[in-house]
Amino acid sequence: MHYVSTRGSAPTLDFEGVTLAGLASDGGLYLPAEWPRLSHDEIRALRGLSYPQLAARIMQPFVAGSLTEAELGAVCEAVYGDFGHAAVAPLAQLDETHWLLELFHGPTLAFKDVALQLLGALFEIFLERRDSRLTIVGATSGDTGSAAIQAVVGRARSEIFMLHPAGRVSDVQRRQMTTVRAPNVHNLAIAGSFDDAQAHVKRMFTDAEVAGVLNLGAVNSINWARLMAQVVYYFSSALQLGAPDRAVAYSVPTGNFGDVFAGYVAAQMGLPIERLVVATNVNDILHRALSTGDYSAGGVTPTITPSMDIQVSSNFERLLFDCGGRDGAALAEQMRGFEASKAMKLTNQQREGAAALFTSRSADQQETARALQWALRSAGQVIDPHTGVGLHAARAVAADGIVPGGVPIVTLATAHPAKFRDAVERAIGVRPALPARVGDLFGREEHFIEVPGDYAATRDHVLGKAAQLA
Ligand SMILES: *Cc1c(COP(=O)(O)O)cnc(C)c1O
Repeated sequence: MHYVSTRGSAPTLDFEGVTLAGLASDGGLYLPAEWPRLSHDEIRALRGLSYPQLAARIMQPFVAGSLTEAELGAVCEAVYGDFGHAAVAPLAQLDETHWLLELFHGPTLAFKDVALQLLGALFEIFLERRDSRLTIVGATSGDTGSAAIQAVVGRARSEIFMLHPAGRVSDVQRRQMTTVRAPNVHNLAIAGSFDDAQAHVKRMFTDAEVAGVLNLGAVNSINWARLMAQVVYYFSSALQLGAPDRAVAYSVPTGNFGDVFAGYVAAQMGLPIERLVVATNVNDILHRALSTGDYSAGGVTPTITPSMDIQVSSNFERLLFDCGGRDGAALAEQMRGFEASKAMKLTNQQREGAAALFTSRSADQQETARALQWALRSAGQVIDPHTGVGLHAARAVAADGIVPGGVPIVTLATAHPAKFRDAVERAIGVRPALPARVGDLFGREEHFIEVPGDYAATRDHVLGKAAQLA
């Protein structure tokens, strides 16, 4: 499989190349040159496979030329054999229409593990082939940090420096990062905001002094391999609900448009998806773009769903490219306009292409809280607020008739409720307990370095520690 950039001028790469590259050199994002298609018979033949077996079958065309079937099968068994639930991503029924897809059975209790655990393993395979090393530098306001750390902990050829804003992440989130003790894991608490930490990371990637000594890598959701891993659970859940002989709709709590774009990929591959509902909180740039064609960034309002508090959704570019006729030069022009003015209009072709599959809804905090209350009252399920945003949107599209009766609507449960237990307790009066497998989180010792807020201090710390490993 070959991969092309959404902005048309970066070299095409194979799967190994896009996995290690992340962002394309022209500033675009990589996508497969064409979508592999499965017939209904081929989809039917996937019934009854275990999650690791299914993952290998779905991902096989995307990795062709870079991994053999045996290598891919082994990595899927190693990664997904280790989740906290044998089904990896089990379904829970709420009522005759609504289902939850539980994506929080990985090591850090959020869906990002499903993709990052695989990415960490792929890095290791490809680095070994090239006999090289990778230094991952990232900034986190919460979820991504711990999932990225768990993806590389103990691996021989990758190390990670994770920056978080000191005092501004929740206890659970901080401890999920800082209680990991391994020589290749470094936690830095930066005096300043998340934006400061993020700015330091970006600057390190363009700092010649850093690039001269370290092979830097990123694990953000623009990496194609992450999206590819997420396609699998659309197939696993739809198969359980009767696909391909029955269509299924999905409601996806959305921030960077990665998770829901994976649903779009599943549809391009032939999975009958009735509708993809893009569920946002009040930071609703995607809802505005899909409903009115106006993609314009404003300020970010902090909410009880912090992993969706975004200003710009990086992966949306992939949809605009695919729905807009795959014209890289035109998209590069459109994105340059957006980068200059923080606003752009979708073309008619992009709007119509998106509208064929996507619907959007946004939920404010009260609506989110009511969704949590409904899940508890009607199905005895305690859900997290991100999932609550998705469930609000799912119920809204069912009520509006956008999804016809008889079509199951699956809401992606993106985090375990215990991860956001203060907000859950405020909404429903129940304080969810941490699952046993992370139960001693508050008994373990924390390890992190406090770093002053300036860039030089951060860079020097990274260079000093990374040099010790090399
Ligand atoms: C990251 C995250 C999201 C948003 O996912 P995207 O792929 O960025 O759209 C939703 N919920 C939780 C809990 C997350 O961690």
